[in-house]
Amino acid sequence: MEKHQTKDSTARNSTIIQMHGDTNKQRSKMTLFEKLREAYTERYSDPEVSRLANIAAAAYFHFILHSQVYVTVFHVIPHLFEQSGDMTIYYLKAFVWFVYIETQANWLCLKFYQSVFKAHDDDNPSYEQMTPWERLATSTTSESLKWRTCSVCGLRAPPRSHHCIICNRCVLKRDHHCYMTGVCVGFYNQRYFIVLNFYIAVGSLCGLYFIYQFAKDTFLPQLGWENYVLPYTVYRWLASDGLELHQMLIVFHLCTLWWTGATAVAFFIWQICLIVLGKTDHEVRQGKRVRYTGRVSDSFQSVFGHFWPVNFFFPAVIIFRQEGNGCFWENVKVM
Ligand SMILES: [Zn+2]
Ligand SMILES: [Zn+2]
Repeated sequence: MEKHQTKDSTARNSTIIQMHGDTNKQRSKMTLFEKLREAYTERYSDPEVSRLANIAAAAYFHFILHSQVYVTVFHVIPHLFEQSGDMTIYYLKAFVWFVYIETQANWLCLKFYQSVFKAHDDDNPSYEQMTPWERLATSTTSESLKWRTCSVCGLRAPPRSHHCIICNRCVLKRDHHCYMTGVCVGFYNQRYFIVLNFYIAVGSLCGLYFIYQFAKDTFLPQLGWENYVLPYTVYRWLASDGLELHQMLIVFHLCTLWWTGATAVAFFIWQICLIVLGKTDHEVRQGKRVRYTGRVSDSFQSVFGHFWPVNFFFPAVIIFRQEGNGCFWENVKVM
């Protein structure tokens, strides 16, 4: 009996070793691009790594936002517009503070108006709280728009909601997980994510232009190529080796603002495309054949609420309420 068990376990072990060998062989045949793609798609598998990524992305966002305001308001604008008069400097500084407040306010709204599905919430009725007619309306639209039981948290969750393993919650109309805020973008906070990206793009790209003009005009011509290696730049500043705080920060911004701005532009354009299509990022990535049958303006109102362009100046969740509750989807069909 024992001999049989030993034989079995030896056979199992050798199968596992062989499988590992096969996976390693397959991996060694993969191109660099395929390996990067695999690492990207498997990034959710380790919650610890995801949690660290949440902290790192939020720290990067706040560092770059605050340091850029400091450099622009106290060094760049006073130097570049010295000849233009006090009023020009005043209006430009007011613009910088406006972009800063909009960015910070939308970040806070994105983080705290979460789209988590709660089973016993008046705004998000659970399946048990629905009237028989509501159940019928949601269950007969199509196969994929039925309420279903989440395999992770066990909740009876509405159509288009998905479980995020980093947030460990079912999220209404889940779009994607945003590391910068550490929460999922979904039905209630997608509006803030879009406006946030708009202001990050404006701040990064305008900031990059003026910061470059300032640096070119002052210390950049004397700077050797080695100063663009960021740890060395930080070391020079710490060692008081001829580099001041604002100069070190400017080198940091020159190295990072271009891709921060480009990423924000890409996110902004992609999100507007998703609203026009009436889909979510998750549905597109998963290849779900969702078709939006409503008007484009209805889709914008579903995301931003009424008078939707006003959100770009004033993030008001109470005044401009969204249509629907993220549980019922009359205009969404599955082909
Ligand atoms: Zn769930
Ligand atoms: Zn999430």
